[in-house]
Amino acid sequence: MTERLAIDGGQPVRAERLRAGFHGSSEIDASEVTAVTDVLKEKTLFRFIAEPRSRARWIEDWYCERLGRKYALAVSSGTSALISALMGVDAGPGDEVIIPAYTFVATAAAVIAAGAVPVLAEVDASLNLDPVDLERKITPYTVGVIPVHMRGVPARMDEILAVARRHKLWVVEDVAQSNGGSYRGKPLGTLGEVGCFSFQQYKVITSGEGGIVVTDDVLIHDRARMQHDAAARFWEESQSEPLYNFVISGENYRLSETAAALVWAQRERLGPILNQCRAVKARAVAGLAQVPGITLQDVPDPEGDCGITLTFFAPSAESAQRMAAALNAENIACGTVHDRTIPDRHIYNHWPFMMSGLAEDRRAPWKDPRYKGAVSGYSREQCPQSLDLLSRAIMIMIDQHFTLQDADLIVQAVDKVARHLLPQG
Ligand SMILES: *Cc1c(COP(=O)(O)O)cnc(C)c1O
Repeated sequence: MTERLAIDGGQPVRAERLRAGFHGSSEIDASEVTAVTDVLKEKTLFRFIAEPRSRARWIEDWYCERLGRKYALAVSSGTSALISALMGVDAGPGDEVIIPAYTFVATAAAVIAAGAVPVLAEVDASLNLDPVDLERKITPYTVGVIPVHMRGVPARMDEILAVARRHKLWVVEDVAQSNGGSYRGKPLGTLGEVGCFSFQQYKVITSGEGGIVVTDDVLIHDRARMQHDAAARFWEESQSEPLYNFVISGENYRLSETAAALVWAQRERLGPILNQCRAVKARAVAGLAQVPGITLQDVPDPEGDCGITLTFFAPSAESAQRMAAALNAENIACGTVHDRTIPDRHIYNHWPFMMSGLAEDRRAPWKDPRYKGAVSGYSREQCPQSLDLLSRAIMIMIDQHFTLQDADLIVQAVDKVARHLLPQG
């Protein structure tokens, strides 16, 4: 232990700060510009005017083909994808839907928008839904579960699907953060009944805002389609012969043609971005396996990991914070996930419409007279296992501009910091 830590005035491992930026949007160049200006020149901004050259249709066809699913529905956001999917599986008032304690706030908001009660389950060392706690949280009112593949890492789908099948629950995958990932050879978004993606700017490929819903089930697709377009029925070719004897009033979640054109242009980016991130992560993970005192995130299928984050656990919340501060001083940008000082929207205890007690009774499905279950509110400490893991987790974001040499520097920095700050042996 000769080298001094940068935080104590030593030389930082990397001369300049290594910090990930945006994935898809940082690649925007002439191809996105052309894709959008083509739409503008054609003056077809709305998909049903653009038909048969609708970009929304093109990206739906691309998703069907890439994922091997029968139906895809382009929508205005990942959140509207989730709401459409929930309408698709007919989740509603009186129902409970299980979601992980660690996910973007929109997963919970979508359940509430559908009128159902979100039930929080713990995450495990994969930082995704814990299948054991999932099974514990099932009640007679549970209708489905939304596993979320957080930060590029696939959830433990074999176990989650086994629990879901045993209890006859539907599975809606939230793939917003893991577009392009897979689990045991199957693309994420094709393991459950429905897969929901987002094209918001923080996601791997982007149109600023946007999303897509994929499924093999025509009924789910059709219900989602009605939800995403209040006028859905009017566009149908044969209005005199409706497919079903019901209609959902729906809300308008259609994707604009300019946004769809951006996704269309970005489709070429997905593979190269993920290839580079995966190569960097694989190299760093191999090196970190030798570092004493830390535990790597348990990635259920490393081959399907998008590689956009690298996460490991310190022995305690306190040591994690000290390590993160020291790593930042070594010019490796990182953070702990749960830190009581930062209101992270990805952790349940910061979702105000559930936590604060300020929820309007009429907007709180758990207070709806049609709901007969036991959830009467939420508390900040109700998922202690998740809070413990998230407070010990140190996360480094990875983008496609990182090199293999950067991966080596990450390992060097973590090793240096761990040797100084963690009990060894
Ligand atoms: C971003 C995100 C969403 C919502 O997507 P938007 O396009 O922002 O509405 C849902 N779930 C997760 C896990 C997300 O990261």
